[in-house]
Amino acid sequence: MIFRRKPKKPQSVRHLPKCSFCGTQRGERGVKLIAGGGVYICSECVSVANEILRGHTPPAPMGT
Ligand SMILES: [Zn+2]
Repeated sequence: MIFRRKPKKPQSVRHLPKCSFCGTQRGERGVKLIAGGGVYICSECVSVANEILRGHTPPAPMGT
């Protein structure tokens, strides 16, 4: 007898895409998410990245 194996479908958990950098979910604080290759970046991180690219380093989030 030949058994046809049914392909196991991983239980698709519907989760909102979130920023791979800061973890902000889409819609949070009105941010937009830009999808990359399996990652997302939010508009806030984009602006931070722009600042860095322009030569302005933002204050470190961790202050000692
Ligand atoms: Zn972000």
